[in-house]
Amino acid sequence: MNTQKTVVSVHETGSRHWVGDGFPVRNLFPSNGVGNEVSPFLMLDYAGPAAFEPSDKPRGVEEHPHRGFETVTIAYQGSVDHRDSAGNAGTIEPGDVQWMTAASGVVHEEMHGREFTRQGGVFEMVQLWVNLPAKYKMSTPKYQSITKEQIPAVALSGGASARVIAGELNGVRGPASTFTRLHVWDLRLNAGAKTALPLPAGCNTAVVLLRGGVTVAGTAMYGEAKLALLSQQGEEVQVQASADSLLLVLSGEPINEPVASYGPFVMNTREEIQQAVRDYHAGKMGRLH
Ligand code: MN
Repeated sequence: MNTQKTVVSVHETGSRHWVGDGFPVRNLFPSNGVGNEVSPFLMLDYAGPAAFEPSDKPRGVEEHPHRGFETVTIAYQGSVDHRDSAGNAGTIEPGDVQWMTAASGVVHEEMHGREFTRQGGVFEMVQLWVNLPAKYKMSTPKYQSITKEQIPAVALSGGASARVIAGELNGVRGPASTFTRLHVWDLRLNAGAKTALPLPAGCNTAVVLLRGGVTVAGTAMYGEAKLALLSQQGEEVQVQASADSLLLVLSGEPINEPVASYGPFVMNTREEIQQAVRDYHAGKMGRLH
Protein backbone atom coordinates (compact mmCIF):
# COMPACT_ATOMS: atom_id res chain seq x y z
CA MET A 1 0.00 0.00 0.00
CA ASN A 2 1.20 3.51 -0.80
CA THR A 3 2.13 5.73 2.12
CA GLN A 4 -0.64 8.18 2.89
CA LYS A 5 -0.49 11.95 2.99
CA THR A 6 -2.10 13.58 6.01
CA VAL A 7 -3.91 16.89 6.41
CA VAL A 8 -1.57 19.41 8.06
CA SER A 9 -4.10 22.23 8.36
CA VAL A 10 -7.46 23.46 7.05
CA HIS A 11 -7.99 27.10 6.15
CA GLU A 12 -11.00 29.30 5.54
CA THR A 13 -11.28 32.12 3.04
CA GLY A 14 -9.09 35.10 3.85
CA SER A 15 -10.18 38.37 2.33
CA ARG A 16 -13.37 38.79 0.30
CA HIS A 17 -13.17 41.64 -2.16
CA TRP A 18 -13.94 42.76 -5.68
CA VAL A 19 -11.27 42.63 -8.37
CA GLY A 20 -12.34 45.50 -10.61
CA ASP A 21 -16.13 45.51 -10.85
CA GLY A 22 -16.42 42.03 -12.37
CA PHE A 23 -14.90 39.55 -9.96
CA PRO A 24 -16.30 39.15 -6.44
CA VAL A 25 -13.57 36.92 -5.03
CA ARG A 26 -12.87 34.86 -1.98
CA ASN A 27 -9.12 34.63 -1.56
CA LEU A 28 -7.89 31.20 -0.44
CA PHE A 29 -4.26 32.27 -0.12
CA PRO A 30 -2.21 34.24 0.79
CA SER A 31 -4.57 36.62 2.66
CA ASN A 32 -5.35 33.90 5.24
CA GLY A 33 -1.66 33.53 6.10
CA VAL A 34 -0.98 30.53 3.84
CA GLY A 35 2.20 31.33 1.92
CA ASN A 36 5.38 29.30 1.51
CA GLU A 37 3.49 26.09 2.31
CA VAL A 38 1.92 26.24 -1.17
CA SER A 39 4.98 27.31 -3.20
CA PRO A 40 5.17 27.40 -6.25
CA PHE A 41 1.57 28.67 -6.03
CA LEU A 42 1.33 32.30 -4.93
CA MET A 43 -2.33 33.25 -4.88
CA LEU A 44 -5.75 31.76 -5.46
CA ASP A 45 -8.89 33.85 -5.97
CA TYR A 46 -12.23 32.09 -6.27
CA ALA A 47 -14.65 34.42 -8.09
CA GLY A 48 -18.35 33.73 -7.56
CA PRO A 49 -20.48 31.83 -8.13
CA ALA A 50 -22.36 35.11 -8.43
CA ALA A 51 -25.30 36.19 -10.58
CA PHE A 52 -24.97 39.21 -12.87
CA GLU A 53 -27.88 41.05 -14.48
CA PRO A 54 -27.83 41.61 -18.25
CA SER A 55 -25.86 44.74 -19.07
CA ASP A 56 -24.51 46.75 -22.01
CA LYS A 57 -21.18 47.50 -20.39
CA PRO A 58 -18.72 44.66 -19.70
CA ARG A 59 -17.56 44.47 -16.10
CA GLY A 60 -14.07 43.44 -15.14
CA VAL A 61 -10.63 44.74 -14.40
CA GLU A 62 -9.12 47.32 -16.70
CA GLU A 63 -5.55 47.75 -17.89
CA HIS A 64 -2.98 46.49 -15.35
CA PRO A 65 0.49 44.90 -15.46
CA HIS A 66 2.04 41.64 -14.22
CA ARG A 67 5.70 40.60 -13.95
CA GLY A 68 7.60 37.63 -12.58
CA PHE A 69 5.01 34.84 -12.50
CA GLU A 70 2.11 33.18 -14.34
CA THR A 71 -1.63 33.83 -14.09
CA VAL A 72 -3.89 30.85 -14.66
CA THR A 73 -7.57 31.54 -15.29
CA ILE A 74 -9.96 28.60 -15.00
CA ALA A 75 -13.50 29.41 -16.17
CA TYR A 76 -16.37 27.39 -14.68
CA GLN A 77 -19.41 29.52 -15.57
CA GLY A 78 -19.54 32.73 -17.59
CA SER A 79 -16.69 33.87 -19.80
CA VAL A 80 -13.74 36.26 -19.69
CA ASP A 81 -12.55 38.45 -22.56
CA HIS A 82 -8.86 39.10 -22.45
CA ARG A 83 -6.72 41.61 -24.34
CA ASP A 84 -3.08 42.61 -23.87
CA SER A 85 -0.36 45.04 -24.86
CA ALA A 86 1.22 42.59 -27.31
CA GLY A 87 -1.99 42.42 -29.35
CA ASN A 88 -3.19 39.07 -27.99
CA ALA A 89 -6.94 38.80 -27.39
CA GLY A 90 -9.42 36.02 -26.77
CA THR A 91 -12.34 34.71 -24.79
CA ILE A 92 -12.03 32.14 -22.02
CA GLU A 93 -15.23 30.08 -22.12
CA PRO A 94 -16.56 27.69 -19.45
CA GLY A 95 -14.22 24.70 -19.21
CA ASP A 96 -11.33 26.61 -20.81
CA VAL A 97 -8.09 27.61 -19.11
CA GLN A 98 -5.80 30.48 -19.95
CA TRP A 99 -2.24 29.94 -18.75
CA MET A 100 -0.44 33.26 -19.14
CA THR A 101 3.27 33.54 -18.46
CA ALA A 102 3.69 37.21 -17.61
CA ALA A 103 7.44 36.72 -17.01
CA SER A 104 9.23 39.99 -18.01
CA GLY A 105 5.95 41.88 -18.19
CA VAL A 106 2.49 42.03 -19.66
CA VAL A 107 -0.18 44.72 -19.52
CA HIS A 108 -3.69 43.37 -19.98
CA GLU A 109 -7.35 43.70 -19.18
CA GLU A 110 -9.76 40.98 -18.07
CA MET A 111 -13.47 41.63 -18.64
CA HIS A 112 -16.64 39.58 -18.67
CA GLY A 113 -17.30 38.17 -22.14
CA ARG A 114 -19.53 40.29 -24.40
CA GLU A 115 -22.20 37.66 -24.85
CA PHE A 116 -22.22 36.83 -21.12
CA THR A 117 -22.50 40.54 -20.31
CA ARG A 118 -25.47 40.94 -22.65
CA GLN A 119 -27.30 37.87 -21.38
CA GLY A 120 -26.29 37.99 -17.73
CA GLY A 121 -26.04 34.82 -15.67
CA VAL A 122 -23.91 33.07 -13.13
CA PHE A 123 -20.20 33.78 -13.15
CA GLU A 124 -17.67 31.40 -11.56
CA MET A 125 -13.95 31.42 -12.12
CA VAL A 126 -10.63 30.72 -10.42
CA GLN A 127 -7.48 32.73 -10.87
CA LEU A 128 -4.31 31.05 -9.69
CA TRP A 129 -0.88 32.66 -9.65
CA VAL A 130 2.11 30.36 -10.20
CA ASN A 131 5.59 31.56 -9.32
CA LEU A 132 8.54 31.34 -11.69
CA PRO A 133 12.09 30.45 -10.63
CA ALA A 134 14.43 33.49 -10.71
CA LYS A 135 16.03 32.36 -13.95
CA TYR A 136 12.69 32.55 -15.80
CA LYS A 137 11.24 35.72 -14.26
CA MET A 138 12.52 37.96 -17.05
CA SER A 139 11.88 35.52 -19.90
CA THR A 140 9.57 36.36 -22.83
CA PRO A 141 5.84 36.41 -21.98
CA LYS A 142 3.69 33.69 -23.50
CA TYR A 143 0.13 32.40 -23.60
CA GLN A 144 -1.40 28.99 -23.55
CA SER A 145 -5.05 29.25 -24.54
CA ILE A 146 -6.26 25.84 -23.49
CA THR A 147 -9.74 24.89 -24.63
CA LYS A 148 -12.10 22.56 -22.85
CA GLU A 149 -11.59 19.98 -25.63
CA GLN A 150 -7.82 19.92 -25.01
CA ILE A 151 -8.12 19.01 -21.33
CA PRO A 152 -8.25 15.24 -20.82
CA ALA A 153 -10.63 13.76 -18.29
CA VAL A 154 -9.58 10.81 -16.16
CA ALA A 155 -12.23 8.56 -14.65
CA LEU A 156 -11.24 7.59 -11.11
CA SER A 157 -12.60 4.73 -9.08
CA GLY A 158 -15.83 5.22 -7.19
CA GLY A 159 -17.69 8.07 -8.94
CA ALA A 160 -14.93 10.65 -9.31
CA SER A 161 -13.38 12.28 -12.36
CA ALA A 162 -10.58 14.72 -12.90
CA ARG A 163 -9.66 17.04 -15.73
CA VAL A 164 -5.89 17.21 -15.91
CA ILE A 165 -5.01 20.85 -16.63
CA ALA A 166 -1.30 20.53 -15.83
CA GLY A 167 0.97 17.69 -14.77
CA GLU A 168 -0.37 14.17 -14.96
CA LEU A 169 -2.74 11.75 -13.30
CA ASN A 170 -2.66 7.98 -13.79
CA GLY A 171 -0.44 8.40 -16.83
CA VAL A 172 -2.66 11.02 -18.50
CA ARG A 173 -0.84 14.30 -19.12
CA GLY A 174 -2.44 17.71 -19.04
CA PRO A 175 -1.86 20.24 -21.86
CA ALA A 176 -0.25 23.09 -19.89
CA SER A 177 3.49 23.39 -20.20
CA THR A 178 5.05 24.57 -16.94
CA PHE A 179 8.45 25.83 -15.76
CA THR A 180 8.56 23.63 -12.66
CA ARG A 181 7.03 20.25 -11.91
CA LEU A 182 3.43 20.70 -10.79
CA HIS A 183 -0.07 19.27 -11.05
CA VAL A 184 -3.37 21.15 -11.42
CA TRP A 185 -6.48 18.96 -11.46
CA ASP A 186 -10.13 20.00 -11.73
CA LEU A 187 -11.67 17.24 -9.62
CA ARG A 188 -15.36 16.39 -9.38
CA LEU A 189 -16.90 13.84 -7.06
CA ASN A 190 -20.48 12.66 -6.81
CA ALA A 191 -21.95 12.29 -3.33
CA GLY A 192 -20.74 8.95 -1.98
CA ALA A 193 -17.68 8.83 -4.23
CA LYS A 194 -14.53 7.52 -2.63
CA THR A 195 -11.19 7.60 -4.36
CA ALA A 196 -7.43 7.68 -3.82
CA LEU A 197 -5.37 10.34 -5.52
CA PRO A 198 -1.71 9.63 -6.29
CA LEU A 199 0.34 12.70 -5.32
CA PRO A 200 4.12 12.97 -5.24
CA ALA A 201 6.09 13.01 -1.99
CA GLY A 202 8.27 16.06 -1.47
CA CYS A 203 5.78 18.40 -3.12
CA ASN A 204 3.55 21.02 -1.55
CA THR A 205 -0.06 19.96 -1.98
CA ALA A 206 -3.35 21.76 -1.43
CA VAL A 207 -6.87 20.44 -1.88
CA VAL A 208 -9.24 23.34 -2.52
CA LEU A 209 -12.91 22.68 -1.89
CA LEU A 210 -14.73 25.12 -4.15
CA ARG A 211 -18.10 23.71 -3.13
CA GLY A 212 -19.54 20.51 -1.72
CA GLY A 213 -18.50 18.27 1.12
CA VAL A 214 -15.50 15.98 1.33
CA THR A 215 -13.40 14.09 3.82
CA VAL A 216 -9.72 14.36 2.91
CA ALA A 217 -7.41 11.94 4.74
CA GLY A 218 -9.98 11.70 7.53
CA THR A 219 -10.59 15.47 7.84
CA ALA A 220 -14.08 16.67 6.92
CA MET A 221 -14.67 19.91 5.01
CA TYR A 222 -18.09 21.18 4.03
CA GLY A 223 -19.44 24.24 2.24
CA GLU A 224 -17.56 26.58 -0.04
CA ALA A 225 -14.04 27.94 -0.41
CA LYS A 226 -11.93 25.89 2.00
CA LEU A 227 -8.34 24.81 1.70
CA ALA A 228 -6.62 21.72 3.10
CA LEU A 229 -2.82 21.60 3.13
CA LEU A 230 -1.37 18.10 2.94
CA SER A 231 1.91 16.72 4.23
CA GLN A 232 4.86 16.58 1.85
CA GLN A 233 5.35 13.01 3.03
CA GLY A 234 3.19 10.31 1.51
CA GLU A 235 2.31 9.39 -2.05
CA GLU A 236 -1.45 9.14 -1.93
CA VAL A 237 -4.48 10.77 -0.32
CA GLN A 238 -7.93 9.34 0.29
CA VAL A 239 -10.87 11.57 -0.66
CA GLN A 240 -14.48 10.75 0.09
CA ALA A 241 -17.46 12.92 -0.89
CA SER A 242 -20.51 13.44 1.32
CA ALA A 243 -22.08 15.77 -1.29
CA ASP A 244 -21.53 16.48 -4.98
CA SER A 245 -18.24 18.32 -4.87
CA LEU A 246 -16.03 20.53 -7.00
CA LEU A 247 -12.37 20.59 -6.01
CA LEU A 248 -9.13 21.93 -7.34
CA VAL A 249 -6.02 19.92 -6.48
CA LEU A 250 -2.69 21.76 -6.60
CA SER A 251 0.66 20.09 -6.11
CA GLY A 252 4.14 21.25 -6.96
CA GLU A 253 7.82 21.26 -6.20
CA PRO A 254 8.54 24.20 -3.91
CA ILE A 255 10.61 27.03 -5.36
CA ASN A 256 13.07 27.67 -2.56
CA GLU A 257 13.93 31.28 -3.39
CA PRO A 258 13.12 34.58 -1.67
CA VAL A 259 9.79 36.15 -2.67
CA ALA A 260 9.38 39.93 -2.90
CA SER A 261 5.90 40.93 -4.02
CA TYR A 262 4.06 44.18 -4.57
CA GLY A 263 0.59 44.04 -6.10
CA PRO A 264 0.91 42.57 -9.59
CA PHE A 265 4.71 42.10 -9.42
CA VAL A 266 6.37 39.06 -7.81
CA MET A 267 10.16 39.05 -7.88
CA ASN A 268 13.01 37.93 -5.58
CA THR A 269 14.26 41.26 -4.18
CA ARG A 270 12.95 44.74 -3.28
CA GLU A 271 15.26 46.21 -5.94
CA GLU A 272 13.65 44.06 -8.64
CA ILE A 273 10.21 45.22 -7.47
CA GLN A 274 11.29 48.87 -7.70
CA GLN A 275 12.64 48.18 -11.18
CA ALA A 276 9.30 46.57 -12.18
CA VAL A 277 7.39 49.66 -11.00
CA ARG A 278 9.75 51.94 -12.95
CA ASP A 279 9.59 49.76 -16.07
CA TYR A 280 5.79 49.70 -15.97
CA HIS A 281 5.52 53.47 -15.61
CA ALA A 282 8.08 53.92 -18.39
CA GLY A 283 5.87 51.88 -20.70
CA LYS A 284 8.35 49.01 -20.98
CA MET A 285 5.63 46.42 -20.42
CA GLY A 286 3.61 47.98 -23.23
CA ARG A 287 0.22 49.65 -23.24
CA LEU A 288 -3.23 48.66 -24.36
CA HIS A 289 -4.41 50.29 -27.56
MN1 MN B 1 -4.42 40.34 -14.52
